[in-house]
Amino acid sequence: MPVKIAIASGKGGTGKTTVTVNLYHFMSKILNSKVQIADCDVEEPNASIFFEELESAKSKQVTQLIPFINTDTCTFCRKCVDYCEFNAIIVIPPAQFAEVSPSLCHSCGACLYACPEKAIIEQPNEIGQINTFNHGVDESFLIEGRLKIGSSMQTMVIKDLVKDDWINKEVILYDAPPGTSCSVVATITQANYIILVTEPTPFGLHDLKLMIDLVRKLNKPFGVIINKADEYSDTYTYLKEEGIEILAEIPFNIDYVKSYAQGSILKNIPSDIESVYTGITQKLKNKLIHHA
Ligand code: SF4
Ligand code: SF4
Repeated sequence: MPVKIAIASGKGGTGKTTVTVNLYHFMSKILNSKVQIADCDVEEPNASIFFEELESAKSKQVTQLIPFINTDTCTFCRKCVDYCEFNAIIVIPPAQFAEVSPSLCHSCGACLYACPEKAIIEQPNEIGQINTFNHGVDESFLIEGRLKIGSSMQTMVIKDLVKDDWINKEVILYDAPPGTSCSVVATITQANYIILVTEPTPFGLHDLKLMIDLVRKLNKPFGVIINKADEYSDTYTYLKEEGIEILAEIPFNIDYVKSYAQGSILKNIPSDIESVYTGITQKLKNKLIHHA
């Protein structure tokens, strides 16, 4: 089984994907491990833009089973409406109307069980895709979930993504969606260790506290990376008081920001950034790889 590390943050824009991509680079190089990125930010997967000469290896559809009501056999008794916890079914007996709303349905199957007339069948409905990429000889180095436009089933796409086959991989890096929603929970529950990326600002600290609350509830080991580190003392004071490990502080480096804007963060990595990621990689190796 590979070691699974989730990179998460309470809000978007903290540099979560940058950290994930760099960890892939440095862990592959320093540990000589077979590392895979799983981009779970399915509403906006963007890890792929940081790699040149990607080769698309395979793509598969993610589907959700949606009930379909056959109004020829339906008696409009509304039992299915009573069973549906998600208010996804509309039945109007006088109009002889019965329909399921795919955007509200969670595919729990309760309505099929409830229907005395067997008037409900399930049909597959596309909600997204899982795309796998090769990079030179590094096969399946990146796998991403991509939610279909208009679908709200992020969690289902992520669950399909994280259960995929990890052929010959030793480390999986989950790039989690931002925030603390169900889709984040679906991602980080799979991980052996969670890295929380934050910025030392009042907003960053607010969202970091929410994430820490979540990972503690899930009883997951975790550490914090402070990106664009500066002197904002409240973040440091809070982490110290709570006894939370700071894995690293990534300095603000204008050349690196320019590289990010050009999508080329893995080219000409500044020496201060390189030494930070080398340090994180060693810490993760001591924490996880040795004990795997
Ligand atoms: S499968 Fe579940 S959520 Fe979907 S319509 Fe039936 S009862 Fe509602
Ligand atoms: S439970 Fe079956 S028969 Fe009753 S309204 Fe629903 S689909 Fe129609």
